[in-house]
Amino acid sequence: MLINITVTGKDAKALSYILRKNPANLLSENFSGGKVVVFFPEYSENRATASLLTLIDTVGMVRSEWQKVAASYVDYRPYAASSLSSVALKDVYSSAFSGKSDLPEIATVIQRELPVEVELSSVWIRGGIKNIYDFFEPLGYKIEYKELPFESAWLKNESSTAYNITLFGNKTISNLLKHIYVMLPVIDNRKHYFVEEKEIEKLLRHGEGWLEKHPAKERIVSRYLLRYRNLVEEALEQLIDDQPDEIQDEGAEESDKEEPIRLQEERLQSTIAILKTLNPPPLRIGDLGCGSGALIKLLVLERSFEDIIGMDVSSRALQIAEKKLRITKRQVWQKPKVSLLHGSLVYMDARLKELDTILLLEVIEHLEPAKIPILEHNVFEYLSPRYIFVSTPNFEYNQLFPSFQERKYRHADHRFEWTRKEFKQWAERLGEKYSYAIDYYNIGTPDEKLGAPTQMAVFRKKSI
Ligand code: SAH
Repeated sequence: MLINITVTGKDAKALSYILRKNPANLLSENFSGGKVVVFFPEYSENRATASLLTLIDTVGMVRSEWQKVAASYVDYRPYAASSLSSVALKDVYSSAFSGKSDLPEIATVIQRELPVEVELSSVWIRGGIKNIYDFFEPLGYKIEYKELPFESAWLKNESSTAYNITLFGNKTISNLLKHIYVMLPVIDNRKHYFVEEKEIEKLLRHGEGWLEKHPAKERIVSRYLLRYRNLVEEALEQLIDDQPDEIQDEGAEESDKEEPIRLQEERLQSTIAILKTLNPPPLRIGDLGCGSGALIKLLVLERSFEDIIGMDVSSRALQIAEKKLRITKRQVWQKPKVSLLHGSLVYMDARLKELDTILLLEVIEHLEPAKIPILEHNVFEYLSPRYIFVSTPNFEYNQLFPSFQERKYRHADHRFEWTRKEFKQWAERLGEKYSYAIDYYNIGTPDEKLGAPTQMAVFRKKSI
């Protein structure tokens, strides 16, 4: 794998000082995964590029203590050596990670944000190119990419694809290196070494100053730690500890606005009441975007349900739900069976295929409008359950909240809110397209002109 770091503009040549590499020499060193080579294919007044090439020794890996991980001589790692390249990067550029220098001539430029370009060649992305945008855009990078043709007899079942990625931004070299160091294994989502406790310390150290604010921090942490649940939880706790608790049920947020009714309570109660009227009765219910599990807590009291799945993109919310529901204390034979899944509505998720009822309560407005068609496809077409509940704020009602002037939407994380007409048009279109009949419900006491605070549509699949 090749990592090219380029600095453009008047400070271009500082790159070699910051990285402490002589641009006239080719450096070749051994590191734990094989060989790493550093050279400068370009070194001019306005543009300097340092190339880092990792040459992975799969044969050596198989024969050595790595053998459990690199099981075969034939391996994709030499070409897309994400986590190994990350180690090589740390090894050869270690002094530049600190962002400090004793050399007076670079002491200031090393702290300056420079126009940079980073080319990562043949990156193996688990879960598609969208991840690159989710990971790097919030850090202020512009992204270009090229998909690489890939065919393999050995990796037929791999969901990943290889890409060339180029990132553009204004960054200090230190921050740039830390971003790449953390993200390479996160993108690949598979590491060559065993994940252990000290990985948390590395992640937090290199993530300091940016990871705690990153909107995809939960996904980054869980991928970095390869979803080892206890480690992920510990790392997130350390990251989140100093921050105000972000996970609140929406009801709490709304009561801040002096909403007279307990809107959340009403939403939960109405949902359960409607579920109980449905015929044939719902048996396997998915609360997608379940948050900290307030609804599931009530659903488990209903013995008529068989399975309840709570899913959320926030593992922090799931941690709270797990505690609240005492999932680990439930007996296997207890009905309904309850499970919590970490996942996202923007992915097709086969684990949800068996559900006959899907609840999306105060969730759609948390997705970017551009993602709504993906959610529509995943829920209405791919999962296609018998019943779908969707609730969302009625935008028109907001003007009755005292804080409406300062805040347009009810919750800081809402990406949009719909009027009754917009919601109805959306629902009707889906009903038509996927053959569902729809009933509409008001949640909360309606205002004569502006309608109810929350609107809910219950979709029922038309019999074929
Ligand atoms: N359903 C709960 C919580 C609503 S808050 C209730 O009615 O009170 C919205 C929830 O949606 C949050 O927990 C948030 O983490 C989750 N969420 C946001 N985007 C998501 C996505 N793409 N996939 C799954 N859950 C998502």
